[in-house]
Amino acid sequence: MTRIPVTVLGATGVVGQRFVRRLADHPMFEIVCLAASDRSAGKRYDEACEWRLDGEPFGGLASTVLRPSDPAFAFAPIVFSALDNAAAKEIEPAFARAGALVFSNAASFRMDDDVPLLVPEVNPDHLALLELQRQRRGWTGGILTNPNCTTTVLVMALAPLHQAFGVEEVIMTSMQAVSGAGYPGVPSLDILGNVVPYIGGEESKVETETAKLLGAVEDGLAVPADMRVSALCYRVPVLEGHTESVSVRLSGHPTPEQVREAMAAWNPVPQRLKLPSAPAVPIRLHVPDNRPQVRRDVEDDGGMSVHVGRIRRCPVLGIKFTLLGHNTERGAAGGSVLNAELAVTQGVLR
Ligand code: NAP
Repeated sequence: MTRIPVTVLGATGVVGQRFVRRLADHPMFEIVCLAASDRSAGKRYDEACEWRLDGEPFGGLASTVLRPSDPAFAFAPIVFSALDNAAAKEIEPAFARAGALVFSNAASFRMDDDVPLLVPEVNPDHLALLELQRQRRGWTGGILTNPNCTTTVLVMALAPLHQAFGVEEVIMTSMQAVSGAGYPGVPSLDILGNVVPYIGGEESKVETETAKLLGAVEDGLAVPADMRVSALCYRVPVLEGHTESVSVRLSGHPTPEQVREAMAAWNPVPQRLKLPSAPAVPIRLHVPDNRPQVRRDVEDDGGMSVHVGRIRRCPVLGIKFTLLGHNTERGAAGGSVLNAELAVTQGVLR
């Protein structure tokens, strides 16, 4: 199969490096262009950034010269964007206008009602929003987003429960890794031996994005699900992996065993299509009371599955459980690549 040429925007960052590593030997996509800010453009990749991941340094692209983040210099039919919000707001539409499908990690366009906010296991039908987006904005390409990392992990666990029973109310308390703040992120003197009870903007993102993801597409636009979500987000001294403590009120008041069965039986679209980045099992269910744990579980399946343990009765909302997922893989680069695999398989690329 001929691989589709792709650009990585923000290639020097925490998420950008994960894109480069993940795409280095991808069966559908081939990196033809790396781009970053004007500070980095014109430099070799290995001069512009310090490689911080395991595996082959710079994904084998150490000598590649970084381009400016402008479609005139860095166009490819598929663009993976690891830009921060301010840069994404200007740069991503320029690529979409030029005809690229942009798979964005930024929050800038996530909540627009004509922009797919996608987790392929959860709402693959939201790809349909692209049609109206192209009509409305006059773009031949388009922007497709993945959620905030904390939301991604949460909706992976809620989706089978919403399908089987209906989610009415959720209270989610997160313990989030420092890598979620980019590099250098939270100063070590602030986070070592500490818990920080505030992550700017995070709680409202989880609350609104969850309802959009579990909502419907009506007349070509996204309509959020009618549910109440309360998020409490904390930064903890962990490198990779967000742990979430979830309480949920479900219609019909299922037992913990029925909840476990619904999660175990879940066989969503990416797994049925055997997309290259889809984990064989989307939710790994743990039996021992002391699992899942970040250090023991989060890297399984290349960080693409989520982990659930301690499913039990909640005296307030009915059901509670512990949830874990990889914030920079499933919650960022891996999630975007899976979105692109779904989009290509569904014929969205013109
Ligand atoms: P990061 O490490 O700070 O990297 C930011 C990247 O954007 C760098 O490559 C930087 O290039 C580039 N950039 C900054 N300003 C630019 C400009 N004006 N024009 C072009 N490029 C510019 O950030 P990150 O943690 O990888 O996050 C990237 C995006 O993913 C953000 O939108 C973030 O919210 C989202 N996200 C992150 C996570 C996570 O867990 N970290 C999870 C989900 C989503 P230079 O090196 O040249 O400055």
